[in-house]
Amino acid sequence: MAGEMAYIGTDRVISSTNKITSFSHCGQCMDELPEDQSPREWAQLEVGFTDIGIQIWCKRHERNVMHVDFQGQKHPASF
Ligand SMILES: [Zn+2]
Repeated sequence: MAGEMAYIGTDRVISSTNKITSFSHCGQCMDELPEDQSPREWAQLEVGFTDIGIQIWCKRHERNVMHVDFQGQKHPASF
């Protein structure tokens, strides 16, 4: 299946399946999390590349959750 395919990086395999061990959330959204919803259901996040790296943005609160500076480096990735 396409979701299980992996890209071979420069020195190791990069999985295309969900390997997240620690989820990133908007702190304000977590403060407002309804009792009948999971963080995944409640999240309103956008993820995208920026001029310096990659950013996670909360659509509900129009605020930065995380912005990673790649410091000019290129990193192997799977898509
Ligand atoms: Zn939020």
